[in-house]
Amino acid sequence: TPLPDYLARLLAQCDSGDGGQLADYIPELAQADPHKMAIAICTTDGVVYAAGDTDYEFTIQSISKPFAYALALREHGLDAVLRKVGVEPSGEAFNELSLDERTERPLNPMINAGAITTHALLPGSPGAGRAQALQALLERMTGRSLQVDEAVYNSELETAFRNLSLAYMLRNVGAVQGDVSEIVAGYTRQCAIKVNVQDLARMAGILANQGRCPRTREQLFDRKLVRQVLSVMTSCGMYNGAGDWLSRVGIPAKSGVAGGILGALPGQFGVAVFSPKLDEAGNSVRGVRMMERLSGDMGLHVMEAL
Ligand code: GLU
Repeated sequence: TPLPDYLARLLAQCDSGDGGQLADYIPELAQADPHKMAIAICTTDGVVYAAGDTDYEFTIQSISKPFAYALALREHGLDAVLRKVGVEPSGEAFNELSLDERTERPLNPMINAGAITTHALLPGSPGAGRAQALQALLERMTGRSLQVDEAVYNSELETAFRNLSLAYMLRNVGAVQGDVSEIVAGYTRQCAIKVNVQDLARMAGILANQGRCPRTREQLFDRKLVRQVLSVMTSCGMYNGAGDWLSRVGIPAKSGVAGGILGALPGQFGVAVFSPKLDEAGNSVRGVRMMERLSGDMGLHVMEAL
């Protein structure tokens, strides 16, 4: 079967039942339409195949983290970033108030402590400037201009007490400098950038293609940098479901609390799925279902693919 037909069928097969819940700690996210659902694949030739609500936009949330990490690595180099943020899975909640006991670094860049530290390493002025720098990178990767969802941004910022306490903790150990509320505002803005599944698939396609944009042939990141980002996604990308995900699906991935999941299969393609209801680990229920079936149908598990 041609890929577009296959994707449409996959979507229908994974639509059954509901299960899961809308995220509500960001009040605005509780307003999402739970029936929305989409999938997109971007090949290493830059062709995008998609099915479902393919133009529907949602906030990128934690899927911004690997790209902020990539931008920080590109700006400062691996050693400098590693001095600030580690690469060990935490086994704790994404918003846990914790640091590596010995080094006083955040454990990894995919949990909020590490992501806030990474955000503060981005080029641009504190506050909106850093989020703007990341947005510009994402626009280069997707080939279109993106917007910040101001309602989600404001809603999250009004209730960002947990991230503020994380940022104060980071400020206390010197992991970040300067005005803490400005850093949290910038980080929150980074998370509120709106994307659709096709955008995410294109971004994933660049990671799958060793950092070269399949569409423009531009080398956006060097290969070692991409290797670093994909490694961290593999060990830490799926909240506390990372081990379960790796064994069942086997595609380096990152999920976000708005219901998106981005996956990159090195040398093959980028893939993205979306549906707002989340499981207990915080991953999209129907998104996980779609990715698991795709991986099984096509024999994509990295430990299995030849
Ligand atoms: N902006 C969200 C937060 O920091 C992102 C969380 C997520 O997608 O996991 O709480």
